[in-house]
Amino acid sequence: MISSVLPTYNRAPLSFVKGQGSWLIEADGRRFLDLGAGIAVNTLGHANPELAQVLKDQADTLWHVSNLYQIPAQQKLADKLVETTFADTCFFTNSGTETAELAIKMARKYFSANGQPERTEIITFEGCFHGRSTGAIAASGSAKMVDGFGPLMPGFVTVPFFDLDIVKAAVTDKTAAIWIEPIQGEGGIRPVPDQDLKALRELCDTNGILLIFDEVQCGVARTGKLFAHEWAGITPDIMMIAKGIGGGFPLGALLATEAAASGMVAGTHGSTYGGNPLGCAVGLKVMEIVTDPNFLAEVNRKAALFSQKLEGLIAAHPDVFESQRGQGLMIGLKCKIAPIDVVNAAYAQDLLTVPAADNVLRLLPPLNISDDDIAEAVKRLDAAASSL
Ligand SMILES: *Cc1c(COP(=O)(O)O)cnc(C)c1O
Repeated sequence: MISSVLPTYNRAPLSFVKGQGSWLIEADGRRFLDLGAGIAVNTLGHANPELAQVLKDQADTLWHVSNLYQIPAQQKLADKLVETTFADTCFFTNSGTETAELAIKMARKYFSANGQPERTEIITFEGCFHGRSTGAIAASGSAKMVDGFGPLMPGFVTVPFFDLDIVKAAVTDKTAAIWIEPIQGEGGIRPVPDQDLKALRELCDTNGILLIFDEVQCGVARTGKLFAHEWAGITPDIMMIAKGIGGGFPLGALLATEAAASGMVAGTHGSTYGGNPLGCAVGLKVMEIVTDPNFLAEVNRKAALFSQKLEGLIAAHPDVFESQRGQGLMIGLKCKIAPIDVVNAAYAQDLLTVPAADNVLRLLPPLNISDDDIAEAVKRLDAAASSL
């Protein structure tokens, strides 16, 4: 008999009833150190008191109003995002996938509204992940994700990750945009080198097409800059964010330049819940905290500490680990065995990690994880690797 919850997930037999900073606690009091953070969501740890207070205050005041009306909390968060990024405007959603849908619509509308309606194609990359909607799975080019769900939305050209000459050759007079994660998350913490991101920016400028960054996983201070593309010193035309921006409250946003957004006039897009006061109040608090230069400096310091300890771990377990990669506290450990075996061994040490493609174990701790907890995490990873 089918379970009452649609059985689309492979769930571990763990069940948490409470969260506290970098720790998750089961009903019997067993405490797990959390290096997954809800897959890069709990930016400021579980049950962060500052976020909880903002959420409670907002809950006592106003939960939901329609986008038929002005929403001051939404306006404040939009202003903050515009003030701190390349963007001139943003649209709020409840998830990353919804921002993927709008990114596709916005890119196509830009060209149809600007006299080039034939430009509908979007170039994407093997191993990318932009969500699970029909549009986002079509964009992925992944046989596993699309199997049985056709007919797929046309208009995506998927190229290898990463060969600049092949990307250049894929640009035609039908191309609307190039769509890429500056660091692939699900694909296995695979960073796009700075010079390649710069080359993509140049390629888009030369051909008059749009550059779309998916920073749903790598954004919001995860890499030690507010957004990952800042390391390369270039900006996109459109950017998806979600995951970390709500600190655990469902919230996403699509950010864009005025030009890229120029086709999206009144009536072209909408959402019932997107930009609701609860999510935006929490999002604003998250932004206030993570945009503090001291906070970002601490993320980079902690990342260096973590990385140094992981070098020792890799050296001590050459049969389990091969290398580390990523940026800031978006860490991938390339494994020599199936990463799910390491994940399971880590569960036995009361440590939570997340597998990814390309034989990579993902470490995505809360950005405010303490130095002691970093040391404890590496100790537990060492015990897990020793048990294999
Ligand atoms: C998680 C993720 C998404 C999808 O976000 P949801 O909130 O699950 O819809 C899209 N892009 C990237 C890079 C992601 O990591």
